[in-house]
Amino acid sequence: MPEAFVHVGLPSRVVFGARALDQVAGEVELLGVSRALVIATGSAREAADVVELGLGDRFAGRIDEVRQHVPVERAEAARAKAQEIAADGIVAIGGGSAIGLAKAIALTTGLPILAVPTTYAGSEMTPVWGQTADGRKTTGTDLAVLPRTVVYDPVLSSRLPLGITAASVANALAHCVEATWTPKADPITEVLAVEAARALHDGLLAVVQDPHDLDARGNLLYGASLAGSALASAGTGLHHKLCHLLGGSYGLPHAETHAAVLPHVAHLNAAAVPRAGARLESAIQAGDLASGLYDFFTATGVPTSLRALGLTEEQAREAARTFAAGHPENPVPVDESVLTDLLVHAWAGDRP
Ligand code: NAD
Repeated sequence: MPEAFVHVGLPSRVVFGARALDQVAGEVELLGVSRALVIATGSAREAADVVELGLGDRFAGRIDEVRQHVPVERAEAARAKAQEIAADGIVAIGGGSAIGLAKAIALTTGLPILAVPTTYAGSEMTPVWGQTADGRKTTGTDLAVLPRTVVYDPVLSSRLPLGITAASVANALAHCVEATWTPKADPITEVLAVEAARALHDGLLAVVQDPHDLDARGNLLYGASLAGSALASAGTGLHHKLCHLLGGSYGLPHAETHAAVLPHVAHLNAAAVPRAGARLESAIQAGDLASGLYDFFTATGVPTSLRALGLTEEQAREAARTFAAGHPENPVPVDESVLTDLLVHAWAGDRP
């Protein structure tokens, strides 16, 4: 019998399958949306054109420019656009940045979101929003931003370049690993996390061989969805909070930052979650979680140092100081010296 637990599952409808993009218009109708604002990552423009055409009279307007970490000015401009066109729903096509902008609108207006993810960031399954102002990223949780419907189409993600694919998978793996040690982690989030890690690991190895392997792309989207669900229920911990600080304060790219930091946080916390750690090791076919993650990222071409992303060693030390001042919670107690050690290793790209 598992230990006593409380699990909160979140309500969303998931439509999954090759060419599921064709079902977006029908799903928008099911949501009762009659004036949809389409938000699309630049590189998902073609998919957005298809959706726009399919929506017919239900299409009300479009935003094609999105940026990582949702700068507050972009959020305000998007809210103004939604109001100007009297949108009653949002279709977001792209990675976490497009979905993040849709969430910024939903946060203040309550408009329903239909998400069509093209990366593996997993934002589509979470009620977590983020916004950046004056170099500081603020995040929060609100059910109003949880997409009501998520349409996964492996055909779309098969156009994602290999470098972005591998980094995005590292981001999804970070959800899996962290979902095993947060205060809200439970046996259900652990099952989701372990199955997600298996699908992500196997999927990425196959995609590296053939980026257009639809089956493998499907495995990655499936893994990303489970990883996002695990994160949504378990919440974030030390790892995600550190990455948000680094992304918001130093403008580091989101997915790559996860890859550089995760092996070191896993090294710190593995002893606190021995059962989940062993299951994750088996899912990624490694003898040790921290070095296994590091080796997997290296083998699939993901940068594993913060230095390679443009951070200076002094900034890594400064981030550790700033973070320690907030008295972060973690299964293994952390202070400035532990965090400095962790971030300097991540900065240098050392193998844990
Ligand atoms: P992203 O959305 O910025 O996309 C990464 C890159 O991939 C971009 O250059 C984009 O143009 C390109 N791209 C996307 N789809 C493509 C496609 N089909 N073909 C070719 N190129 C394509 O990055 P991301 O890593 O998906 O998301 C990062 C953002 O999401 C960050 O702001 C992060 O904080 C947020 N995020 C939020 C949550 C949450 O739960 N709220 C979870 C994960 C990430």
